[in-house]
Order: sequence, then structure tokens, then C-alpha cells
Amino acid sequence: MDIITEPSALGERAREWTRAGRTVGFVPTMGYLHAGHESLMALARKRAEVVVASVFVNPTQFGPGEDLEAYPRDPERDAALAKRVGVDVLFTPQAEAMYAPEAATWVEAPSLARHLCGASRPTHFRGVCTVVAKLFLLVRPTVAVFGQKDWQQLAIIRRMNADLGFGVEIVGAPIVRESDGLALSSRNVRLTPAERAEAVGISRGLALAEAMVQSGERDAGRIVAEVRARYATDMPSGVVDYLECVDPAAIEPVAAIAGPVLFAAAVKFAAVRLIDNRYVDVQAASR
Ligand code: AMP
Repeated sequence: MDIITEPSALGERAREWTRAGRTVGFVPTMGYLHAGHESLMALARKRAEVVVASVFVNPTQFGPGEDLEAYPRDPERDAALAKRVGVDVLFTPQAEAMYAPEAATWVEAPSLARHLCGASRPTHFRGVCTVVAKLFLLVRPTVAVFGQKDWQQLAIIRRMNADLGFGVEIVGAPIVRESDGLALSSRNVRLTPAERAEAVGISRGLALAEAMVQSGERDAGRIVAEVRARYATDMPSGVVDYLECVDPAAIEPVAAIAGPVLFAAAVKFAAVRLIDNRYVDVQAASR
């Protein structure tokens, strides 16, 4: 596995792959890699001849007062994991190499960023979109793999890819969880043991939402109220940033459930904000 830090060097390698007609799979990450990232890389490995992964804690997707500095980092362990999964090139740029001080261009899809994380982190998705666009231009991937854990991000990347004509095949990968159901996240390491014990409540609440749909409840407001009550009991030190039932593609609130929906939650434990979601198909549920 090669580790490349210079964007121009990665661009040159990518042009060689293109000239040679090789398919390229790409997995962008912010590092501190875990089994969730690993599953994305393994999927890319299956789907393409060359696999590129990036580790870049992208400053433009963090708002003021968020955890850019505190975001966990372990470059050596990341490199070992990427190598073990069969990544060919690991791209680990410095922020200065990715953004010129005078950079003034953003890529954004505001209509998909009104709710969920976009509501509480108003500049987050333009940072994500911009960096993914820049990475797509460097890597020129055939296929790129993103986790469904960041469902809204995946929806926005699909839109951007179509709107700007990148022509990348976007693959969404299932959420990898701890054995008790907590979605894996690089941020989990920042939880205290007591917070970690409570945090399992996030996925349990989302499972309750699905169970309510399965038993015939179609009023999203009633389900959300019930899950909120459960959150208050199960996670006394958690502060719910949002808990919503949205259309999985448009990321707009749904009141009466008549088709597939997404229950999505963000909960803060002190400085650690965790997200999770559950896709629920009412058709499948009522069969
Ligand atoms: P991050 O490093 O958190 O920015 O995530 C990089 C990629 O890994 C994104 O596409 C995430 O959706 C994905 N990812 C993060 N956690 C998980 C997980 N638990 N299961 C599946 N994919 C994940």
C-alpha cells in the first residue's frame, strides 16, 4: 500500500489508472478507522481493481465550537487497517494542501440540508460536498462507497454526483454496529463509560420506532413523541439534538407514514454528538 500526501501526486496516479483503463474504488473517511470503515473498504475492494481510501479530517465541515481539534486521530493504526483490508493507495493530505487560503468556491445542495444534521450544523454539508467534489476530481473513481450511517450525507452526495455529472457509481453500505446495537463511530472513544452505557439507547429508540410502525402506527408525530420519552428515560445525560421521521430521499419531514421513511436521531453526550438512523419500509412492515 502506498501512502500519498500530495494532491498532485494522487492526481498523477489517478490519470495513470484512467489511461490504463483500470476501475477505481474510493472510500473517503476522516480516519480513526473502525469496522464500519473497514466494511466500506472491503466493498470497494470487491467492486474495483484499484482501491483508494482517504483519511482527512476536513476542517470545512466543522462549525465554530465543534470538535475539529478533539477529533480522534491515529495515522499509524489507520494505515495498518487500510493495508490489511487491501487498500492500494491511502491519501492523507494536509488541510493546507487541500485548501488555498484564498479559496472561495463551495459546492452545496441546500434543499437536502434543511433538516436533520443540516439544521443543527448549517455549514456542515457544504464542507462535505466541497471536499468530496475535490476528492472525486483527484481520484476520478469508478465507484465510491459511503456508509448509510450518514444517510443525509449519502443522499446529498448522490444528488451532487448526478447534478455535476461526475459519473461515479455511488454505493451505500449498511451501518456496522457494536454487539449491543450502538452504531460504530470514531467519536465513541470519547464517551465516558457511563455515557457509553446510555448511548445504546439511541439505536434502541429507533428500533422502537420501527416496532411501532410494524404494529400499525402511521402517525409519525406519535412515534417520535414515544421515542423521545424513551430517550429521556434511557439517556438522562443525553441531549437530543434532533429526532425526526423524514422521507429517505428528499430528507423532508413526514407526518403520515405511507411509504418508506427514515427515523434519524442525533444525541449529544457532553461534547460528543452521535448520530444514527433506521430505514423503515411500511410496505414491508404491513406485509
Ligand atoms: P467518517 O470517517 O466518520 O467521516 O466516515 C467515513 C465513511 O464511513 C462515511 O461514508 C460514513 O458513513 C462511513 N461510516 C462511519 N461509521 C460507519 C458505520 N458504523 N457503519 C458503516 N459506515 C460507517
